[in-house]
Amino acid sequence: MHLNIGYENVKTFPTWFDEGTAIFFSGSGAKHVVEDFNGSYSTAPSQDYQQYDLNFEYLEANLGRPRMLELIKQSIDQRDYTVALRALHIADYSTLVSEARDWQQKETIKWIVFWILGILDVVWIIRLTLPKAPRPYVTCKHCGYEVDNRTFQHQFCTQCLKKL
Ligand SMILES: [Zn+2]
Repeated sequence: MHLNIGYENVKTFPTWFDEGTAIFFSGSGAKHVVEDFNGSYSTAPSQDYQQYDLNFEYLEANLGRPRMLELIKQSIDQRDYTVALRALHIADYSTLVSEARDWQQKETIKWIVFWILGILDVVWIIRLTLPKAPRPYVTCKHCGYEVDNRTFQHQFCTQCLKKL
């Protein structure tokens, strides 16, 4: 699905904006159909299209979806693709690309940390629910001697020889 930019306007928008909005609104960034050199079609994601998609994900993450949609509408109305970039004080396309990549790296790290913490939580809960290991020693109520638990089955203190 492409936005109704219209042919007369297309030339005023760079590919990353035109294709990026199209991918973003169709959600097909990961499996955009790419025509290869043989003229056959593959569904392998091209790096360019992944980047276009990432750019708009980054804009959405920073602007919020309603504001982003408003700025894209303004961009189209004013035929000025820099509207959304200026809202984030991004000077040019290469800055957008590097900021979007930095953002993606941080998101990836956050995601990894989230999962590590989640796994640790699960391990902690499992440990809490496991029965506690028996104490290795039992205290004799008569003499206070710490009797090795392995001898407890005899039911007599190995120190005072009284019944435990
Ligand atoms: Zn004892």
